Amino acid sequence: MVERTLIIIKPDGVQRHIVGEIIGRFEKKGLKLVAAKFVQLSEKQVGQVYAVHREKPFFKPMVKFLSSSPVLLMVWEAEGVINMTRKMMGATFGLYAEPGSIRGDFSCSERYNLIHGSDSPESAQQEIKLFFAPNEIIDYKLTNSPWLYVKSASPKK
Ligand code: ATP
Ligand code: MG
Repeated sequence: MVERTLIIIKPDGVQRHIVGEIIGRFEKKGLKLVAAKFVQLSEKQVGQVYAVHREKPFFKPMVKFLSSSPVLLMVWEAEGVINMTRKMMGATFGLYAEPGSIRGDFSCSERYNLIHGSDSPESAQQEIKLFFAPNEIIDYKLTNSPWLYVKSASPKK
């Protein structure tokens, strides 16, 4: 099933000029960009994205970090996009993330980790709704889609 995911390029990604690199990886993978906004989030907005972590000890410093400087909010679309982008992001912190992943290649911090990606279809739906009205998500055809999304002829395992 075609899914959507909310991707946030965090303040460190913007400040360190890694925005183009991250978008380039998703584009080259073949994912479809359907919405984008460059904004500075309020502490309240960050708290809404990370509501499940509200009681965690790292919550306050994380909210400060994410509201400290602008971020790029994007919605990407493809079948299996949530799983694919999570793998491309790598483990939560660059210090431990696999080389080849975005965090593994560009971060070595245990706080600043460049990117957020939704972790399930349910959280994606909720997170996208926080920032994008339905008419801000663009429905269009990718002209190269016949070269991208061809399925295996063998039945799914
Ligand atoms: P994200 O939700 O940003 O995509 P994630 O899903 O890999 O990251 P989560 O467990 O959802 O990781 O944590 C959300 C965010 O909270 C992390 O991206 C990080 O900024 C922060 N965080 C998580 N665990 C810790 C920790 N132990 N110490 C400090 N910050 C943390
Ligand atoms: Mg998460």
